[in-house]
Amino acid sequence: MKKPSAGNRDTLQTIIDFLPTGITMFNAEQQVVVCNQNFRTLLDFPDSLFVDGMPFLRDLALFNARRGEYGEGDPQTLADQVCERARGMQPHVFERQRPSGVILEIRGEPLPGGGWVSIYTDITDRKRNEEDLRRVKDMMSAAINFSPTFIWETDAAGNYTRLQGIEHILGYAESELLGHQRCSTLCDADHIAGCEVEMRMEAREAIERQVVETRTKTGGIVWLSTSAQPIYDPRGAYLGYRGVDVDITEITRARQALEQLALHDPLTGLANRRKFQDRYQLECRRQGRAGLPLSMVVVDLDRFKQVNDTWGHIVGDVCLKAVADLLVSQLRTTDLVARFGGEEFLVLLPDTNSREGVLVAEKLRRALEISVIDIGLTAQPTLKITASFGVMTLLPTEKLSLEAAIERADHAVYAAKRGGRNQVCAAGSAVPETHAADGPS
Ligand code: GH3
Ligand code: MG
Ligand code: MG
Repeated sequence: MKKPSAGNRDTLQTIIDFLPTGITMFNAEQQVVVCNQNFRTLLDFPDSLFVDGMPFLRDLALFNARRGEYGEGDPQTLADQVCERARGMQPHVFERQRPSGVILEIRGEPLPGGGWVSIYTDITDRKRNEEDLRRVKDMMSAAINFSPTFIWETDAAGNYTRLQGIEHILGYAESELLGHQRCSTLCDADHIAGCEVEMRMEAREAIERQVVETRTKTGGIVWLSTSAQPIYDPRGAYLGYRGVDVDITEITRARQALEQLALHDPLTGLANRRKFQDRYQLECRRQGRAGLPLSMVVVDLDRFKQVNDTWGHIVGDVCLKAVADLLVSQLRTTDLVARFGGEEFLVLLPDTNSREGVLVAEKLRRALEISVIDIGLTAQPTLKITASFGVMTLLPTEKLSLEAAIERADHAVYAAKRGGRNQVCAAGSAVPETHAADGPS
């Protein structure tokens, strides 16, 4: 290898002293030809190694071996091994952690005429950052995989570009959904909330805990709480959405069960007084605004005490359930049937005038009259039951509390009872009208 002249040497030295890495050039005899201060600092080589001119690789290796840089072993042997390896030098990159904890990346490149150049870079911070990043990613993955959550990103067209954690919630492998429209995989036409999310995404609005009802791959219902926001590149160009979905199925089911308990009669599953009260008030307001009448029917089973006294309470309960089912089956979905305790039922008929209310009550009376209730006793397999019906109608201009409305309908029921039971009476006139009093009393 040609030796650099003194002038070239100074220039070279100046250049390499400015380099942020440590650099050494060895000749074919394994002696340092040139190195910079960074090399000596990074490797903590004392000045004493350089006082008698540039050191040989063996001097440096022996110094290193003695201070434990190469681990356990006889320093002479370890230093010989280093020199031996350097003799068959190939281009290489490796990392070495110094006892101080500093991590060096060491690159070696053989030179054409023998010898080589080594470059030493302190990568401690980079390694630490990489390790931190890896740990944060691992933590995030664990948090997502161990919680009922999945995270996602879409491109500007709404197609999934990233997904994590969806499989344990919806049963789809991430690869099945990547590249597909989020909306088409989550919401269908029936699910208004899913479409609401879609609309917000089209408007580039943030989405905060929007509840979406959707289905798993196998068709099970899942409720998700979606939070998401649009993402933009540094120049403000829209890139898509990033969001988190939390599986709230369990809590939703629990809430629905509580609502069912709080608003329904446990025996028949019909609405209870509270639910009826809420619907009554809502319908009164709506009917008032729309200028439409509203009717209500009180249904009181005839001589029901006798049923209990003769066949026992359990049979009585079977009858109550059968009557509840029958009433529901005869009415429109917009009507509401409630059990008001005991053997009394209340039917709310929105958008129904007095004449229509009486017709509905008559239809119910007739259906009950002809029905046969299966009570399953050997001595008495079936029973027949009738009821008395009191209809009241609220005109759009009228305002009446539920209690007052029930009282009015109750008067009609008493009239039906007095008239011989199994009949319909309408409230509103001084002498209630009676209908179909031809049944058994
Ligand atoms: P009426 O034709 O005058 O209405 O006679 P009734 O026997 O139906 O009326 P009454 O008010 O005297 O009795 C109502 C009966 O309803 C009393 C009770 O035995 C029965 N009952 C009330 N609640 C329940 C219930 O939850 N289960 C059962 N099995 N019976 C009930
Ligand atoms: Mg009663
Ligand atoms: Mg009764």
